[in-house]
Amino acid sequence: MGENAVQIIEKEKLLPASLINKLHHCFPQYSILKEESAPMFTSSKNRYTGIDGFREIISVLNANGIDIGYIEERELFINVYRFMATKHILNTINWKDYNNDSVFQLVFPQPGMMKAELLEKYRNAKSEEEKQQICEDYIHDTNPHDGKQLLNKACFENEHGDFEILDGSQHKYPQCFLVFDKSTQSCFAFCNYCFRHAQVRGDEDMFIQEDIDQVHNYLREHKEVTDILLTGGDGGLMPYSRLKEYLLPFTTDPELSHIRNIRMASRSLTFDPQIIIKQSFDNTLALYKELIDHGIQVIWMGHFSGPKELMNLTTIAAVRRLRATGITVKSQSPIMKHISLFPDANGGIDIDKSAQNWIDLGHVLMMLGIGFHSMYYARPTGEHHYFTAPLADINKVFSQIYRSLPSVGRPSRYISMTSSAGKASMLGTVEVNGKTAFALKFNESRNMEWMDRVYLAEYDDEQNTIEKLKPFEGDKYFYTDELEAIEKQLESK
Ligand code: SF4
Repeated sequence: MGENAVQIIEKEKLLPASLINKLHHCFPQYSILKEESAPMFTSSKNRYTGIDGFREIISVLNANGIDIGYIEERELFINVYRFMATKHILNTINWKDYNNDSVFQLVFPQPGMMKAELLEKYRNAKSEEEKQQICEDYIHDTNPHDGKQLLNKACFENEHGDFEILDGSQHKYPQCFLVFDKSTQSCFAFCNYCFRHAQVRGDEDMFIQEDIDQVHNYLREHKEVTDILLTGGDGGLMPYSRLKEYLLPFTTDPELSHIRNIRMASRSLTFDPQIIIKQSFDNTLALYKELIDHGIQVIWMGHFSGPKELMNLTTIAAVRRLRATGITVKSQSPIMKHISLFPDANGGIDIDKSAQNWIDLGHVLMMLGIGFHSMYYARPTGEHHYFTAPLADINKVFSQIYRSLPSVGRPSRYISMTSSAGKASMLGTVEVNGKTAFALKFNESRNMEWMDRVYLAEYDDEQNTIEKLKPFEGDKYFYTDELEAIEKQLESK
């Protein structure tokens, strides 16, 4: 921690001993709060990026007697996707037992992640050029815009009657408008399950918003929008000057007074919390305070999937600094095999162990005053096969979590999965005329009226994608025809 951070922590009383002692006492298995051994990554370098960064980490590990192995396989993943790790995240990993550390699993490519036939081809390549070509060809198979996201781009007719497309936006649900600004097309580190890899990899068809006025003009015409979600990549990367340009008009322009919530989608609390406990962050906090004083809630959306990500001094101090400014901190948490969903000895899912990770996370979130917004299934993108598990198993895990946490500490909705139709939640199973069915309900949908209805799908022990479940009765869901019509209409724009 830098000297500047230490001063801020002391002055703003961000780390009360009573809180630290209690967290460590309740959850020692995840804690490095009382760690006395020196961190392994001590150079002034903060970010390790790409193959070179990965190799640098490997040499530090080797110098400390650690060999994580599977280097070629891990590098294949990095060549197809990306790699970045911060000093902070590297020093939160328990290197004595790294394979069982959820943070190691989150950031480092793992054996088994890339499909065997691709790995074989890569290994047999005769030259570096051939290897690169294999990776470039494979990129097209990685389904970067799952759920037909390209259809969600906002467009409007401007005051001159010209048709404008907002290339760095999505407006799928009435209340929420997503901005993928040009300054947020990277992250503080990379999650290896990334479902926005088109953004962080820099694909040609990534969403990218250059023009801020265009966003305001669109919003003036769309009074149904209440929430702006700054995302990317990572919304937390947006520099203060640009953030101000986006946000201040919401406090001054009466035509934009329908904007009530700013959601900052950022994993910085996990990957680089130090950015929040710096003097240079003070003007950003002052801007957020100004919004809050104008009745605009600022919500910092983290993505915690295990207590390990929170149980260190820097993250706790950063969370408390945000909250002391009046910012609401919430977690929308991905449920991913190997990271927050654990295999059993037979290759299935260890329901109890997986549920316990989430119950403990729920308690740590409560102790830090973080709202448990949601849990979501792995989306069918990237190396989905590695992170996913049967919906039937995840439903069992979720049921344990839900009944074990107090109502104020539960996720605010049932576990959900995004598809083109919307975000469908799995409510559980139900018996109908002696047959088991999954009960589903949208909590966001292309037509918001679909949300009023519970619908059924055939129970399936294996399926891992809600969209692919078969309707319980008939050959389509109640919304299928209308969805097709909406998609067609959007495609024709
Ligand atoms: S923070 Fe989000 S966009 Fe960035 S790597 Fe992780 S999942 Fe992808």
